[in-house]
Amino acid sequence: MPDYRRWICDACGYIYEEAKGDPDSGLPPGTLYEDIPQDWMCPLCGLTKADLRLLPDQPVKTAASRAPARNASAGKGSADTLVIVGAGIAAWSVAEEVRNLDAERPILIVTACEGISYPKPALSTAFAHGKSADDLIDNDAQGKAAELNIEIRTQTRVIKIDPVKKRLTTARGGIQYGQLVLALGARQRELPISGNAADKIFRINDLAAYRKFRQQLQAPVRHITILGAGLIGTEFSEDLTAGGYSVTVVDPAPYPMPSLLPEQVARRLESRLSQNGVQWLFGKTVESLDSGGDKLRATLSDGVAIETDLVLSAAGLVANTQLAEKAGLAVNRGIVVDHQMRSSVASIYALGDCAEVDGRLDAYIEPIRRQATTIAQDVVGQPSHYQPRSPLVRVKTPSFPLTVCLPANTNPNLISSVSDNDDRIEYYDGTQVVGFVLSNEQSRSGAGLYQKIAGL
Ligand code: FE
Repeated sequence: MPDYRRWICDACGYIYEEAKGDPDSGLPPGTLYEDIPQDWMCPLCGLTKADLRLLPDQPVKTAASRAPARNASAGKGSADTLVIVGAGIAAWSVAEEVRNLDAERPILIVTACEGISYPKPALSTAFAHGKSADDLIDNDAQGKAAELNIEIRTQTRVIKIDPVKKRLTTARGGIQYGQLVLALGARQRELPISGNAADKIFRINDLAAYRKFRQQLQAPVRHITILGAGLIGTEFSEDLTAGGYSVTVVDPAPYPMPSLLPEQVARRLESRLSQNGVQWLFGKTVESLDSGGDKLRATLSDGVAIETDLVLSAAGLVANTQLAEKAGLAVNRGIVVDHQMRSSVASIYALGDCAEVDGRLDAYIEPIRRQATTIAQDVVGQPSHYQPRSPLVRVKTPSFPLTVCLPANTNPNLISSVSDNDDRIEYYDGTQVVGFVLSNEQSRSGAGLYQKIAGL
């Protein structure tokens, strides 16, 4: 068998494994990078073959070629077990990275959900791609666990962590750990909205919620109101408009994605999506939502009411920190960790959307793989150093794609060139390019520029 390699898309975390190929795009298992056609696009974010970066790791071993892990703890853990709480991309990344370094370490994933593995960034563009919730599933929990030779307990909610006894309390019995990884993720912020239909607001934060949302779309739905013009709300607005729905986006900000985009670029995105039919209501909030007959009535902060069939909230993310806080771990906006991804209790790590490093809470895909590698190396006694850096963000709006890397330096020089169709804004610190906002055709060069900035 050839030594298959793995390639990563820095914008979305998609990993092209030569061994697995990309059958959905017509690349059978075993397709080498060299044999990927030039017009292939990342199935999650639309970047190209040239944007993929070779992962410096060993190819993932198949289950058959591995030594059996010493464990079979029947899901109860042991003083030797690495227990991972959560089952998102962060949790699975840690399991994979530890397994790559240590074939025998007992690993147990504990999750309150079904533990299904799927690419979360794909949720906000799945509709236009004609993908149902089931189409997004990579692997079910047991299949993926078997592949990695680890244990998994699904539908098991962790209620309490006892850092002294190294014990978890769950609704289905206690679990012992040697080291613990918190991959608790983040949830959609709940907006203060009154009215008798406030509980009908959808927040899509996982596959189960997406499945419910898609079921709801099968009812006679014509008009959808999206709360929030941030990255997720904007991506959904284009996805659902392309799907034939009439979409209104409500946000108190003056234009879309103000924390990511300079006004000139945001305005261009706004007008491009307007041409596609998106209706924007900026400088406003929804105060209440009431049902009236078979319609919903959303009353805005200016007193105007709009009729709508469905309301989707995408008002930003809040890190899930409650469990850590109750256990006495240091918590700020996220669970505070050091550069080894250790929390204030050395045997407990945290990563992904729930973790805060150097005051940064980067709720993007890019840091997750590096954080998982850092944890794995620490766990096997070869500590490394995680350095936060500005993530590469791909805004998946097909009619006006954007690639953004915000500079850490808050006061950079700005050089911008703008044409009729594109924006190219580069941020400089002295003569060094430290960030960028690229739109439309220009966005294609983002991954290359990012690799230069990040020294990859
Ligand atoms: Fe990608």
